Amino acid sequence: MDDCIFCKIANGDIPSATIYEDRNVRVILDIAPAAKGHAIMIPKTHMADIFDADAETISKISAAIPMVASAIKKELGCDGINILQNNGAAAGQTVNHLHIHFIPRYNNDNVKIGWEQGSYADGEAAELAKKIASRV
Ligand code: AMP
Ligand code: ZN
Repeated sequence: MDDCIFCKIANGDIPSATIYEDRNVRVILDIAPAAKGHAIMIPKTHMADIFDADAETISKISAAIPMVASAIKKELGCDGINILQNNGAAAGQTVNHLHIHFIPRYNNDNVKIGWEQGSYADGEAAELAKKIASRV
C-alpha cells in the first residue's frame, strides 16, 4: 500500500522509535501514548484490520507478543499491560493497517479503557452464542 503510513514505518521507510523487529513485525513506541512505553506492533504486510487477516499471518505476528510485553514490563516496572487491537472506526481504529497496542498500566492510573457492564435476559446469551457459533 503506497499511501499507508504503517506500511512505511513497518518496512523502515519512515524512521520510528523501534523496540523490536523481526521478519514479520516491527514494534514501535506510539507517538501519542496513553502512558510512557505504550507500543504498537505493526505487521510488515498490509492488512486493514482483523477481517482482512488470515490465521497463519496472525499466528506469525502473535508469536512475539509475550516477549514484547515482558520487555516493556521489565523496563517500566508497570503493574499490568493492556494488549488490545481496534477494528473499524466504531471500535476506535484510526489507522487502517492492522496493529496491536501494548499499554503499560499502573495501580490507580488514569488511563481510560473500559465499558459499563451490561446484562442478558434469561436464555438470551445461550441463544446468541448458538447463532454466532453457527457462523464460526
Ligand atoms: P488506532 O486508534 O487503534 O488505529 O491506533 C493508532 C495509533 O497509532 C494511535 O495510538 C496513534 O497515536 C498511533 N500513531 C499514528 N501515527 C503514528 C506514527 N507516525 N508513529 C507512531 N504512532 C503513530
Ligand atoms: Zn499498510
